[in-house]
Amino acid sequence: MAYDDGNVFARIVRGEIPCNKIYENDHALSFHDIAPQAPVHALVIPKGRYVSMADFAAAASAEEQSALIRAIGETAEALGLSEPGYRVLANSGADAHQEVMHLHFHVFAGKRLGPMLAGGPMPPSSQV
Ligand code: AMP
Repeated sequence: MAYDDGNVFARIVRGEIPCNKIYENDHALSFHDIAPQAPVHALVIPKGRYVSMADFAAAASAEEQSALIRAIGETAEALGLSEPGYRVLANSGADAHQEVMHLHFHVFAGKRLGPMLAGGPMPPSSQV
């Protein structure tokens, strides 16, 4: 899929619309999600034009990749989450229900988050 420069995170990176910023480095930015799904819900994004995890893994420089991982850790630290814990999740593509086509990592925290997915473990017979 081609990158769409009109997506909401591209506009945030360009400063065209505001965000509630948490952390920034040369290649990554984090901010609070506009519609939080947990008491703490942050988003960590690369500043570069990457649609998805597949795109980023294939095309981002080593510097961009390390900056994004560092931004996740620094964001959690800035929010005081390292000790109580947090969940990092990236929806990539249609099956994962990715809505904004600019790679982003969600950081959820602030309560016991429960099982990784709503339905819990799959029965062994249905695993691929
Ligand atoms: P996903 O479904 O993984 O693509 O997640 C997209 C996320 O972006 C959702 O949690 C939205 O609430 C969030 N979001 C959309 N627009 C904004 C915005 N302007 N500022 C912050 N978060 C946003």
